[in-house]
Amino acid sequence: MKNIPDAPFMTEMIRTTTNMYNHGWDERNGGNISMLLDEEEVRRYLTFPAIVRTIPTGFSAPELSGRIFLVTGTGKYFKNVQYDPKKNLGIVRLANDGAEAEVLWGFSDGGRFTSEFPAHMMSHAARLKADPENRVVMHCHPANLLAMTYVHDLDERAFTRTLWQMCTECIAVFPDGVNVLPWMLCGTKEIGEATAKKMETARLCVWAQHGVYGAGRDLDETFGLIETAEKAAEIWMKIAHLPIRNTITDAQLRLLEAHFGVHARDGYLDA
Ligand SMILES: [Zn+2]
Repeated sequence: MKNIPDAPFMTEMIRTTTNMYNHGWDERNGGNISMLLDEEEVRRYLTFPAIVRTIPTGFSAPELSGRIFLVTGTGKYFKNVQYDPKKNLGIVRLANDGAEAEVLWGFSDGGRFTSEFPAHMMSHAARLKADPENRVVMHCHPANLLAMTYVHDLDERAFTRTLWQMCTECIAVFPDGVNVLPWMLCGTKEIGEATAKKMETARLCVWAQHGVYGAGRDLDETFGLIETAEKAAEIWMKIAHLPIRNTITDAQLRLLEAHFGVHARDGYLDA
């Protein structure tokens, strides 16, 4: 039996939470990550069944029953994950049609998974339908994307087009665009359901006046997705109040679409 802190998924999670904190995306206990794990890989590090305790989830997700996730803990600081992964992270298996989460490892101070667990699990279910290879759901508070939601139209097409126009490679990184959820109370089943609905059509969903959700096949891809959108938002926040003399036209976005072999979201380009 190998030592669980040595597992590649654990190393990657620790590096990612540290990096996100260093980017200023996860102040205090802000942000949360969940990553679907391969059961065979987990078995190399944990003896099954090794249920430490069971926590009710407050929702139903039959399609995820039996699936295992590495999740950040509620109230925990990303900056501290590297110093005490066993306290700040947990490995849980969904049981009883998703109504319960069995803690297999971690949350060692008696803690539990992120308060945004419903939004994470429902988003996993939605993304797995769109892409069976999806593994990661990530939430954080990048300043420029957040700032944009105070001053930019929240229409998803308009929001996406603005970001595509801010950096040449944006359309290649998120051709499916950015969905936007108007302000809602966080930590609830309702925002979970609304986020999952948005995740059916895009891997990025901005929570107005709050932050962003991203989804992807691994931690790097998901981090990179948010990083790229946040960079574009930063450019926009730097220039939006200045007279705009140049931009990336729709014809040029079409050229990029063809060059990178991606499919821009239907109806989002005029030309
Ligand atoms: Zn948040």
